[in-house]
Amino acid sequence: MSISAVNSTLVRESGHIDGRWCQAESGATIAVYNPASGEHLGQVPDMGETETRAAIDAASRALPAWSALNPKERARLLRNWFDLIIEHKEDLARLMTQEQGKPLFETRGEVLYGASYVEWYAEEAKRAYGKVFSAPTGDKRALSIQQPIGVVAAITPWNFPNAMITRKIAPALAAGCTMVVKPSEETPFSALALMALAEQAGIPAGVINMVTSSQAAVVGRVMTDDARVRKLSFTGSTRVGKLLYGQSADTVKKLSLELGGNAPFIVFDDADLDAAVTGAVISKFRNAGQTCVCANRILVQDGIYDAFMARFKAEVEKFVIGNGLDAATTLGPVINKAAIDKIAGMVDAALTEGAELVTGGTRHEAGELFFAPTILGNVSQQMAIASQEIFGPVAPVIRFGDEAEAVAIANDTPYGLAAYFYTENHSRIWRVAEQLEYGMIGINEGILSNEIAPFGGVKESGLGREGSAEGLADYMETKYLCMGGI
Ligand code: ADP
Repeated sequence: MSISAVNSTLVRESGHIDGRWCQAESGATIAVYNPASGEHLGQVPDMGETETRAAIDAASRALPAWSALNPKERARLLRNWFDLIIEHKEDLARLMTQEQGKPLFETRGEVLYGASYVEWYAEEAKRAYGKVFSAPTGDKRALSIQQPIGVVAAITPWNFPNAMITRKIAPALAAGCTMVVKPSEETPFSALALMALAEQAGIPAGVINMVTSSQAAVVGRVMTDDARVRKLSFTGSTRVGKLLYGQSADTVKKLSLELGGNAPFIVFDDADLDAAVTGAVISKFRNAGQTCVCANRILVQDGIYDAFMARFKAEVEKFVIGNGLDAATTLGPVINKAAIDKIAGMVDAALTEGAELVTGGTRHEAGELFFAPTILGNVSQQMAIASQEIFGPVAPVIRFGDEAEAVAIANDTPYGLAAYFYTENHSRIWRVAEQLEYGMIGINEGILSNEIAPFGGVKESGLGREGSAEGLADYMETKYLCMGGI
């Protein structure tokens, strides 16, 4: 194993089922590599059907006691977990940079962001309120209570190896659910480190189970086919989300789906130029462009186009590309070879279709998985790059004339996760915010996710919300009680 400078108790090369660290029955393993250097970091078990079923068994057995626990006690255990995550934040960040590639300043930020969900839901655990209704006849009383939905399965991606786990586990546990989690095979170590801390925090055996696997379709199928799993929470591609939606029909599971996006980032003539450039850089290039809320299309109005492009180019050319463990690095690699080949292909296609190369445009000499931060000008909504999720450090810029045109272009997509716009005009703020068909809108702001906010999309970007009180409600069922003979 070559994970460096991380507390060894957090580096686990095992799955975790029913309170035990374990290997795959078959003995098979998955190798995990550092995307910045290609270095082999270690391996985790390649689990399949048997282990997934055992994990669901364990979560089912743990459910009655966990859901019956006083919410204050669940809150205390979640709080313990939060405290331990904070205590080990530097180790978690260093571990994540090595398996995921993003620079240390970003992984440090993600650990705090991920922990904020644990803290928030430790507090919210005590706040699952019921309701009393006024009954239609005098001899009845009507009320509803909130109860945990049951065993929850979660499948998470590699782009936020820590926060996508806590954002699901924390509300589920607060609600009184138990879980089976399959982290991404690209970044399992961050998930297993969180598991080690959850165990240390005193969260009982079977409440959280982690199945590591490269056979995602097999594990997903066991999860969706099992009627004991009452909810599936998935973050990942729209393609896989649709597949899991279909597979969940037979057992009529509740679903939370956080899928792909095609975020427009609109800069109107009356925008604060400095703020718009800063917002565009962070929204586009954070995590090397690999977030589902990254600006995917930058729409700039005629009157500010040249000024914006000049400033945007100057800022983008300041990125320091390299291994995320180097303190100076501000842009890391992309996750794997398939990702970089796809990004390079999209850029080449856009240039063939007539886009203008403003900066970048090629792979970068820092290593096999590095792509130079790129700006493409004169992109049109008809080009493939404007309709597909790029998931890389490439910013296509589209010029537009008026507000109606910008809104029409922005909404011309099956996706509806995040959108951003910059303007100093207050009536335009309301008008455009209401017209954009997106679940989340950044207004003069390029970063919008935090634990107090309902994160989620509309259209083919997904179902349900994570974070806020809505995030807790998504792990609960409403039970109506009708009392007669009064
Ligand atoms: P990305 O393109 O971000 O890797 P994916 O949707 O492929 O998105 O992956 C997100 C998560 O879904 C990962 O944990 C991956 O292993 C899992 N996954 C991929 N294919 C399937 C599938 N057929 N069924 C269940 N999970 C899957």
